[in-house]
Amino acid sequence: MTIKINSVVTIHYELKDSDGEVLDSSTGQEPLVYLHGASNIIVGLEEQLEGKQIGDQVVARVSPEKGYGLPVEALIQQVPMAAFGDEIKNIEVGMRFQADTEQGPVPVVVTAIEEGMVTVDGNHPLAGKELHFDVSVTAVRDASAEEIEHGHVHGPGGHQH
Ligand code: ZN
Repeated sequence: MTIKINSVVTIHYELKDSDGEVLDSSTGQEPLVYLHGASNIIVGLEEQLEGKQIGDQVVARVSPEKGYGLPVEALIQQVPMAAFGDEIKNIEVGMRFQADTEQGPVPVVVTAIEEGMVTVDGNHPLAGKELHFDVSVTAVRDASAEEIEHGHVHGPGGHQH
């Protein structure tokens, strides 16, 4: 059985950046189970898993455009330190929190603090990065009608409802 639209696919994976640093891995954890063609995983990886089958090892290089996108300048903002109030006393570079925006809460990271101004970046941490995946396909099955309707996998590794 090969991977195609509406396959339920189980993979183990390791994700590295261009320097070979491991960013994420399923090693020692439950494998990832996803519904193929439902945008459950990034499009660049999904494309390269199409047509593969159980037992296949896939080395996939994914461009930022087909990964987490390119950094957007508008998501980088400078905020006066005074705006943080008393609740955050020790703001440090690398700190993550939810910022309230007109579009609702957005996860941001503090990237710089200078002269009372805090720079926060709401881009995905992997935006602009080329991604290198080592994937092994461990199971493939057809999705149920209900899974296709919901756009996600049910049962082990998926939604339990
Ligand atoms: Zn569901």
